[in-house]
Amino acid sequence: MADNPLSAANAVLLASVRQCNLCAADLPLGPRPILQWHPDARILIAGQAPGRKAHQANMPFADASGERLRSWLGLTAVQFYNPRLVAILPMGFCFPGSGSSGDLAPRPECAPAWQQVLLRQLTQLQLTVVIGQYAQAYHLDDVKPTLTATVASWQDYWPRKIPLPHPSPRNNIWLKRNPWFSETVLPKLQARVQQVLENRQ
Ligand code: SF4
Repeated sequence: MADNPLSAANAVLLASVRQCNLCAADLPLGPRPILQWHPDARILIAGQAPGRKAHQANMPFADASGERLRSWLGLTAVQFYNPRLVAILPMGFCFPGSGSSGDLAPRPECAPAWQQVLLRQLTQLQLTVVIGQYAQAYHLDDVKPTLTATVASWQDYWPRKIPLPHPSPRNNIWLKRNPWFSETVLPKLQARVQQVLENRQ
């Protein structure tokens, strides 16, 4: 893949995001925006918010969720962390903290501040992988009443977008209850990712 560095304007934009402290007062570990972005990206991972391990590593999906997500997509770590192939823009860029039933919701200030200005530049996108209810509400026109119903209706968004459940180990029960996801959806997703890797629309 040809090296195509960020333009000066995009480098400034990305630096602005990385310096953001808009909701610092509400972030238990402080601001640390974790995203991956380059206008050449062909796949967008639209997720929820970084977890504690991703915050500590300062790297998106640096945890068991990331391992599972890469295996769902059929991507190596090298491919997944290539910003010219994969953009990673969660609905909140900083770790929001944890509650009794898992991580808190993405900070509501984040998407209005940053999503559109970053998404507008992703003109090469062929596939958006939409993970979890917050990203589904933001990225899908016709979201269904439940996350399961939205994922089950994946063909409504295909082939430009696909809704996924969160790949967290916390969702193992969901995966057991919904075997059609692994049996039917994942093989289609992996074939689509290969198509994008080969740059076939
Ligand atoms: S979560 Fe978003 S809005 Fe809040 S400090 Fe981080 S980058 Fe800024």
